[in-house]
Parts: sequence; C-alpha cells; structure tokens
Amino acid sequence: MADIIEDIKSRLDIVSYISSYVQLKKTGRNFKGCCPFHSEKTPSFIVSPEKQIFHCFGCGKGGDLFAFVRETEGVEFTEALQILADKAGLKVEKLSKFEKQERSEKDDYYHAHELACDFFEKQLFDTKDGEKVLKYLKNRGLTDETIKEFRIGFAPDEYELLYPHLLKKGIKKEIIVKSGFASSKGIGDDKIFDKYRARLMIPIFDYMGKICGFGGRTLKDEQMPKYLNSPDNIIYNKSKLLFGLSRSKKYIKENDSVILVEGYFDMILPYQAGVRNIVATSGTALTQDQIRIVKRLTSNVVTCFDTDSAGFEATKRSYFLLQNEEMHVKTVWQLDKKDPADYVVDHGEKFMDVIKGAKDFVSFYIEKLVNLNDVSRLDGRRNILKEMVPIFKNMASTSKDFYIRQFAEMTNISEVSLYDDIEKFKLPMNHPAREFEAVAENSTKVSIEELVLAVLLRFPAVFHKSLELVTEKDFKESEKNIYNELVDQYNSARTHFREWNFDQGLLAKEREKINVTLLYAEDKYGEFSEEAVSVELGKLVDKLRKDCKNKRLKNIEFEIKEAENAGEKNRLLALLMEQQELLSK
Ligand SMILES: [Zn+2]
Repeated sequence: MADIIEDIKSRLDIVSYISSYVQLKKTGRNFKGCCPFHSEKTPSFIVSPEKQIFHCFGCGKGGDLFAFVRETEGVEFTEALQILADKAGLKVEKLSKFEKQERSEKDDYYHAHELACDFFEKQLFDTKDGEKVLKYLKNRGLTDETIKEFRIGFAPDEYELLYPHLLKKGIKKEIIVKSGFASSKGIGDDKIFDKYRARLMIPIFDYMGKICGFGGRTLKDEQMPKYLNSPDNIIYNKSKLLFGLSRSKKYIKENDSVILVEGYFDMILPYQAGVRNIVATSGTALTQDQIRIVKRLTSNVVTCFDTDSAGFEATKRSYFLLQNEEMHVKTVWQLDKKDPADYVVDHGEKFMDVIKGAKDFVSFYIEKLVNLNDVSRLDGRRNILKEMVPIFKNMASTSKDFYIRQFAEMTNISEVSLYDDIEKFKLPMNHPAREFEAVAENSTKVSIEELVLAVLLRFPAVFHKSLELVTEKDFKESEKNIYNELVDQYNSARTHFREWNFDQGLLAKEREKINVTLLYAEDKYGEFSEEAVSVELGKLVDKLRKDCKNKRLKNIEFEIKEAENAGEKNRLLALLMEQQELLSK
C-alpha cells in the first residue's frame, strides 16, 4: 500500500494537479489561490511544491494530494487512489487486489447506473417504440454521433422492465429504489415497478465522467412531471452537479470562460455545433456549490437562459450569486428564439457569434431598464433606481464608479445623489446577494502564538532573540513541544547553528503542524529581511503580552465580583492589587 502511495506522489506534482481546479499564482516558493472549499475574496489557499501539501488558512482544510482528491471529488480513499493511479499511469492490476477488498457502496451504485444506461440505449436503438423516439431526437436536431456520445436512451411505457432486469444482473433492491429506478409508491404494498416510463433518458455524468443519475423527459404531453430526475443519494447530489461538465471542463479551461445554460438540450445542441465550453444547471436553480465548481476552472461566465420573464429572473439571481464569488458575468439576451437549443438548430454556428457578442450583465440591464422606463418622468426614474441601487450596493468600488458614470449619463441622474442613495440603501435579508453572506469569509484566524512560532520556524537566525522574549509558558499545548524542540536544537548546536532539522524526535502530528505553520510563514514573511523579521518578532511578542494582559484583566473583573458577593475580603484585596499593577504597566 505505502509503496503505491509513494509511487503516485513521486509521479504527480501537486501544483499541476491542483492547478486544474484552482487558479494558482506563484508567490515566493509557494503557490496561492482562492480556496475551492470555502467562499473567499482574498486568497488564503496555499500549495507547497517542496512539501507536496496544500493548506487553506481560511477554512483550515489541508493535506496531501490524496486529501485534495477526496475533498474535491467527495470520494473515499480507495477511489482517490484509483483516480490518482489512473492519472499517474500506474497499472490497475497493481491495485486490483486492494480494490476488491474495499469495493465501496458507491461502486455498486455506479455499476447499477451503467447497467441502466446500457438498458435505455438498447431500448432506443433496438425496439420499435425506440425508433419513434430516435426520430423525435433527430427532429430536435441531434445527430447519431451526439446521441451516442451523450448516451441518450429511452424508457418504454412499461411497468416491469428495468427493475427485473437489474435484479437479474445482481443489483440489490435497495440500490435500485434509492437510485430512483423503481418504487412501490402508488400501487399495492409490496409491488415494485419501474419509475421511468415513456421517457427520454438522459444520463448525468459526474465530474470524473461516471454516470451518477438520469434526467427523464416525458414523451407524453399529459404526463407529469415533464422532467423526472434522480433523487439525491450517495452518488447523486443535484446541487453539486453541472450537466455536461465532464465533457466541457477541458474547453472551459482552454477558453477561460464558461457558458451557463438551463436545460439538457441547451447544453447538448450548442456542444454539437462546436460551442464546447458550456454546462447546464438543469434540474435546479444555480447553487453556490455549482459556482464553486466552475470557479476552479474560470472566473468568466456567460449566462444564456430562456428569454422569457422566468429566464430573466434566473439571469438576475445568477448575476448576484456569481458576483458574490467575484466572477465576471456576461449575458446573452438577443436570441430570437426562446432558448439556446432552438436557436442553435436554426442558426448553427452563428450561436458562437452571439456568445462572443455577450454584454456584461450590468450594462445590459441598465440599457434594458432605460428602454422600458421613461427617464424623464419621476415614476420611471423610481422604477429604474429600485432595480439598480441593490446592484450597485453589492459592487466592488472600481466597477461601481465605472457603472455609475455610465448610468448617470444614460439617465441624467446626478452621480452624487446616486452615491447618496446607495449609501443609505440596505439590502433586504432575503436578497440573493445576501444568500450566502453568513458562510462567506469565515476565517479561522492564526493565533498570535502560532505567528510567533511561524517566525521562529522560518527564520532560525532570529531565534536567539526570542529567548529573551518568550518562554514555553507562552504557547498552547500543541505548540509547546515544538517550541521546546527548537530550544533543544538551538542549545545543542549553538556555534554552528543554521537550520532546524525535524527528521526525528517529533510526532507526525507535530511535524504536520510545523509544515502548515511554515507555509503560513513563507507566505506572510517570505521576502522579509532579517532586520524586518526581528522587528516583526518584537511586535508580535508585544501583542502577545497585551492579549495576555487583557485576558487576565477580564478574568479579574469577574473574580472581583465573585469575591465581593462571597464577602472574601482578602481575596478581593489581592485581586484589586493585581488589577492595579496590570493597569499601570
Ligand atoms: Zn478554505
């Protein structure tokens, strides 16, 4: 086992692997970017090529390449191992024994979905009813190649086909039901029947390209619902999936932009026409999780939703959510058809030009509002302001200045009064721009003690200064051992002292702590001169003392009240003296 892990680590570089998810910039000896695991505007996610680890100083997530894969793909260790082994070009045989032992529940679900997909494809291509459906697909503009590539299939209008088929193939009843293929609801107690009937079956692939769910579109007008999607289960979580992403992720990175559409066919048809950096939200309104997944690949989004009023509301809401994540949002709204799928069928490659001509959302919206309202009338102005003020309110100041100038010119409303309105305006609690406010920027701060330790680890040359300033008592339990190790190393090698050496003596947990602390120090103090570091150390220790003093003062206040209430005169006197002494320092 350990061999395989080391083998994989030596073949894959953590920086280039993580780069395919997160935009990283080199800073000193490390790389830095916005954390893919929590929402943040200033990067606190650091990757170290030397240590082959990552750590986020915002949310605290960190570890090696395996930890990263487990986090991003939501998989267990065995699957992470498999994913990385594939990437490293290591033969699966080497793993198979291990794999057999720990074949996870998820694999059973994936297996069931793969079998169901085969089954639906067969129904489409090899049956009489399927023939009609195939014709329908061709009429919608899909080619044979596309139908096969997206593995589209068909569920006949029967109650007992897929369920017995999957049972016969050895799939457990529980998995069939939890995957949404069959159910007992609606019919007598124990009777189980197929849930997808008379439906076009569109498989949904996860990020790695495995089938994890289905969207079933009805083929009978009166049948409800129009789309029947997989229920959430251990491999399917609709708020974290984007339809088409396993195919388009490569193109999204290449183009450094993504086109966001709503429906399956809105993704499939443009993709067929050569517009490949495209994904669909399908089955859910855009979620924060989906945005974070996209954000790992690019920060440029073109939204292209239905051109009706519901589509516009979706566009507006998406804008707020995307803007919250510092994404640049453009919008396509000049389609002469209701949705992108129909447009592409009629206009083919012209869709590409439409995308290129996408306008940034704010300019587009200002124009739309000015066209809809009479700006020379008071109520017209009010209508426009009601829509625009919340948008300005939520904007970074450089863009705000830019758009306010544009807006003022188009409406003849003075810039000064606009800034005034924005200043006074409070976003209502239920506004989409606030939807995720509470979770954003939840930084778990690095403590002062940890900062002191970071400086000492990074700059062994200033360590002697710390001996006059701090003692082991200043550190928490988790840091105490590390500090004492530094003292020991310093004392035993005083004359030719150069570098710390942590090859032995410490626990794995402590070594991990050192690595993370060093990462922080390299980021924060990487370019500091020895002199600057000495000054910084002085400041940190001052702060440490002050914090300590304030904490004690607070406790004393509490204890004084306690002593007063209990009538303990001697204790009260001692406390008051201590308080005086601390305050006079
Ligand atoms: Zn984070």
